[in-house]
Order: sequence, then structure tokens, then C-alpha cells
Amino acid sequence: MAATRTFSIIKPDATRRNLTGAVTKMLEEAGLRVVASRRIQMTKDQAEGFYGVHRERPFFNDLVSFMTSGPVVVQVLEGEDAVKRNRDVMGATNPADAAEGTIRKAFAESIEANSVHGSDSDENAKIEIDFFFKPEEIVG
Ligand code: ADP
Ligand code: MG
Repeated sequence: MAATRTFSIIKPDATRRNLTGAVTKMLEEAGLRVVASRRIQMTKDQAEGFYGVHRERPFFNDLVSFMTSGPVVVQVLEGEDAVKRNRDVMGATNPADAAEGTIRKAFAESIEANSVHGSDSDENAKIEIDFFFKPEEIVG
């Protein structure tokens, strides 16, 4: 099967605890390759745009505040069935439900501060990658 791409964010709770390397190691051990990476301070506009699908959810404002509360690392990951592979190693949204061996089980602080984002479909992966990266910034 051909390699595909997905989009990942190491969230502020993880960068604050200096877990960028530890999270990335788990992604790599799951068979994903980092083909683009940038550490940024997300703006309110960026966070609201990125999470636009959640605008009507009760946690939207808190989520935007959280995602802009510190640096994040935006990454493009490549691998076989990358979207599913990444979702599997991330674990459930709520760390209380996350399986052993997943990033959220290991590191997440709460259902909000859950250490990582990962695209949920190939379509959204493309949209999310394009939101943060130019084609020439992705080197596989
Ligand atoms: P996932 O990140 O697993 O795809 P969602 O797309 O449903 O989960 O939600 C996006 C993000 O919003 C979550 O990763 C988490 O940071 C936050 N979030 C989701 N549900 C809640 C909730 N009930 N309360 C607070 N924050 C939430
Ligand atoms: Mg999601």
C-alpha cells in the first residue's frame, strides 16, 4: 500500500512539559515519518479557523484559548495508512478512555489538554496540511 500523509499537532500541554521529542518518538515508532515540522505560537485567528468545525460546540472558546496558550509543533506525517496509524497511536480523545501504549494514555492531562491533534480523514488531512504548510516545506 502506498504511503499517505496526515497532519499532527503537538499541543501546548505537551510542549510546556518538554515532551516534543517523547511524542515524536512514539509517532516514529508507530511507523510514521516526520516530513515537515514547525514550532509556532498559534494566533487566535488561526486556532478559530483550524477548529472551525467545532465552532458550535460548548468547548470551542476554551479550546481556542488552550491552543493559543503556548507553543505548538505542527507536523506532516507520512506512512502507510497515515491517518489511521496516527489516530491509533494517539488514543481516544479522553485520556480516561485511551488504550495502553497510546500517546494520550501516556501524556494527556485531560480531555482538552490531550497532547496531540491528528486529522480524522484523508480529506481533512489535506485541508489541514494546506492550512499550515506550503508544498515546498514538505520533504519526504
Ligand atoms: P480528537 O482530537 O480526538 O479528534 P475532537 O475532534 O472531537 O477530538 O475534538 C477536538 C479537540 O477538542 C480535542 O482533541 C480536545 O482538545 C477538545 N475537546 C473535545 N471534546 C472536548 C470536551 N468534551 N471538553 C473539552 N475539550 C474537548
Ligand atoms: Mg478531531
